[in-house]
Formats: sequence, C-alpha cells, structure tokens
Amino acid sequence: MAKVAYVDQDECTSCSQCADNLPEVFEMNDDDLAIVISYDAEEIEEDDIQEEIDSCPGECIHWKK
Ligand code: SF4
Repeated sequence: MAKVAYVDQDECTSCSQCADNLPEVFEMNDDDLAIVISYDAEEIEEDDIQEEIDSCPGECIHWKK
C-alpha cells in the first residue's frame, strides 16, 4: 500500500517550499502552515514526496506509520 505523508505543523517554518514544489500534495493553510491535501497516493511518486521530506527546513514532513 502506498505511504501517505503528513506535516507536523508545530515545526513548520511557513517557507512554503513543499507547496511550491509539489502543489498536488501540499498547500499552505490560512495560518500559513503547510497541510497535506487529500491526494491519490497511487498517482504521486513517493520519491517526489521523499524529496520534500529530505529538504524541508523544519524537518516536519513525515510518513504516516
Ligand atoms: S517545506 Fe517544511 S517548513 Fe516549509 S512549508 Fe513545507 S512543511 Fe513547512
């Protein structure tokens, strides 16, 4: 089964890098914190999400267990 990402908003720096790079998965909410929108995990490459996980300055994007 495909993995699903989430953002720990307590650590989000509001840089919007993830939303800029992968808008199919990430969006900035009204508080300028990243959220994971409802996305089709079968349609998105896990590597693309992993790239955002690895480059997130707040280290706050994770895979749901
Ligand atoms: S890349 Fe990380 S710190 Fe930046 S907006 Fe996304 S979740 Fe927040």
